[in-house]
Amino acid sequence: MKVLVLNTGSSSIKFQLFEMPDGRVLARGVVERIGEEMGHITYQGGVEYQEATQLDYDVAIADHNQGLDEIIKVLLDQQHGPINSTDEIQAVGHRIVHGGDKFTLPTIIEPTVFDELKKISYLAPLHNPAGMIGIAVAQETFKGAIQVAVFDTAFHQTMPDFAYRYAIPESLYQQHGLRAYGFHGTSHQYVVKAGATFLHRPLESFNAITIHLGNGCSMAAIRNGQCIDTSMGLTPLGGLVMGTRSGDIDPSLLLFLGEHLDMSFKEIDQLLNKESGLKGLTGTNDLRSVLDKYHQNDRHAILAIEMYVYRIKKYIGAYMAALGALNALIFTAGVGENSSFIREKVCDGLQVLGIEVDTAANTQRTGGIRRINSSNSRVAVMIVPTNEELEIAQQTFGLL
Ligand code: ADP
Repeated sequence: MKVLVLNTGSSSIKFQLFEMPDGRVLARGVVERIGEEMGHITYQGGVEYQEATQLDYDVAIADHNQGLDEIIKVLLDQQHGPINSTDEIQAVGHRIVHGGDKFTLPTIIEPTVFDELKKISYLAPLHNPAGMIGIAVAQETFKGAIQVAVFDTAFHQTMPDFAYRYAIPESLYQQHGLRAYGFHGTSHQYVVKAGATFLHRPLESFNAITIHLGNGCSMAAIRNGQCIDTSMGLTPLGGLVMGTRSGDIDPSLLLFLGEHLDMSFKEIDQLLNKESGLKGLTGTNDLRSVLDKYHQNDRHAILAIEMYVYRIKKYIGAYMAALGALNALIFTAGVGENSSFIREKVCDGLQVLGIEVDTAANTQRTGGIRRINSSNSRVAVMIVPTNEELEIAQQTFGLL
């Protein structure tokens, strides 16, 4: 069965077509700059075959409808596409950022679900509306296919109330849903499952701390395969120092920005989401560039890296205390999978917690899932490449 996974943003649609249940990738790509003067498409077909093709071209794309049309065009292309008819696609899995506390599992999108999604859109005004456009255009195009929503927040819905509630009046939670939800759930779920399988441990008795370090960064504490705490909160702004986001700050800082610097809510939002984190500290949000500057002894980069690493360490300590016992510490995403330097620095001095990295294993440049802990380490330290699209495809397929 062919499952199409769509990740629709405000001006882009990322897509991957899978053959399920084996998870083979038939095609993947991204349509970008929707609504701009000129759009752009990047496409890889036959990804896992000898005759793989790569396409990269400009085409004007007025809206998401046309964006999806372009995706279909290339998927149906006689030379490059893996399908002959859209009917071959039997299910579409949509990445939806926020599921509120209503959606704890992947969900088939019935009309009532669409209405519920509309109601909680205010929780993720930058992300959910785009995801819903993706659903609407896919419903129109793939009339016979089952549409499934997979939520970034769902995996974290097993957190206990004392972890997800904020110490603010109860009415704000009851009436407005103000609580921590957590994000990157699909990634945390994928890597913890893959990590347990790799170690031949049943997920039901597997404790892990997962560290997703991409442009956005988050961590999760996982007991017996279920999330009990995570670093992001009501929105993806909380927790770790990220590419452009501040992570945790004293909330009074917002009051100061408003009262003393006359900043509007919009400006504060822009400052904390887009101009803070590594970018705010060093001028660049790309960790590779920050590391280059660090190695040239740039004092801003040194401070930024120290803060980035220190924040992760603090969460490891906190999650160790919350979990009591730990089987694995799992690094994933762009930085987690690729930077031996950051992994080494994060684990440095954590012997007291049973965490010890083997330098040779850590710096070896092999792909795939691997262990990088020393033989003395009580905890398995691992790199598990994330694959959110495959997780969405599996969850979509699982529902059918
Ligand atoms: P996104 O959150 O957009 O999916 P990624 O998971 O691709 O992001 O991660 C992007 C981050 O990974 C960037 O900060 C980039 O600098 C960093 N990164 C990628 N490769 C390396 C590397 N070899 N060393 C250090 N950082 C890396």
